[in-house]
Amino acid sequence: MVAKKGLAELGEFGLIERIRQQAVPAPYLRLGIGDDCSIQAVAAEDELMTSTDLLLEGVHFNLEWTDFESLGYKSAAVNISDIAAMGGVPRCLYLGLAVPETVSVEQLEQFVAGFVAAAQAYGAVLAGGDTCRSGVALVISVTAEGTAPQGQAVCRSGARPGDLVFVSGTLGDSALALRMLQQGKQPSAQLAFRHHRPQARVTLGRRLAETGLATAMIDVSDGLVADLGHILSASGLGAVLHLEEIPLSSGFSEVLIRQPEWLELALTGGEDYELLFTVASESAGDIVRLAAELALPLTRIGTLQAEPGLLILQQDGGHYPFQRSGFDHFSSDKIY
Ligand code: ADP
Ligand code: MG
Repeated sequence: MVAKKGLAELGEFGLIERIRQQAVPAPYLRLGIGDDCSIQAVAAEDELMTSTDLLLEGVHFNLEWTDFESLGYKSAAVNISDIAAMGGVPRCLYLGLAVPETVSVEQLEQFVAGFVAAAQAYGAVLAGGDTCRSGVALVISVTAEGTAPQGQAVCRSGARPGDLVFVSGTLGDSALALRMLQQGKQPSAQLAFRHHRPQARVTLGRRLAETGLATAMIDVSDGLVADLGHILSASGLGAVLHLEEIPLSSGFSEVLIRQPEWLELALTGGEDYELLFTVASESAGDIVRLAAELALPLTRIGTLQAEPGLLILQQDGGHYPFQRSGFDHFSSDKIY
């Protein structure tokens, strides 16, 4: 181990060499970090899916309450979640970094350690990237590639009237943790974990794609209402949801006792990275069996209809008056 070195001393190529040493090999990665391109083996029967996300300091994360390892983990996991959302197997990840002088080599090593750990957890690898200096904030760009056998990928556009709407896990935990952090409160360890270490539902996405059960699918990154809205507009449909069916964690419900207005975070908060999917009504039993097999709650929250629009029904029959639909970079208030 070299003694503490600043980024300026280590230089771009010294930093890339450190990243290369932290990366982990995979059988399908013929050539990783170090050349002009990576080389990846691809099976003839597969299709390649690719997704990119930008993460900006001050927009997507706040270094006041995020440690670098968690940030690295989350940067990989949220991109892998996009592959999961179409039923793919995550493969190569590419990491673009624009680093300000205030970030140390140690912090970058922690970031890459978290990134590589998340990649490994889902069978993916860090296969390349680009590194430069940033004059302002830390900027992270991640590209994820995944594969699925031809014709299996699940799009947002395949839903049909009468299909049932399901969601995995629980909603609102991550947004609630963020709200508490923003207000200087300490979220429970369970809520904080959901915010800092989101899990990508890769196995669920794969099973829903290979069985052909999901007619449409998306991961909940902008909030249930906004992301269901994407399925509805892509499929040209509407939906009725039942508020009391929205799955909430015990930690979330506990906070709601004191702050009932925060229920809205489960609908519009975002960063849940659960899978929201639709299935034909006759497949409901298969989803119940899949939930048991994966030991993951899969909750039916509503039904699709031909008539456009989204209604959220309360137990008393009234309509839940949600204030905004979810996170939109160009129209929402800044969240961090
Ligand atoms: P080029 O000038 O050909 O783009 P670079 O010097 O930028 O090459 O990168 C050299 C190698 O290091 C490439 O394989 C590239 O993918 C990899 N690399 C650069 N930055 C990163 C990074 N932040 N994370 C992972 N790999 C990186
Ligand atoms: Mg480059």
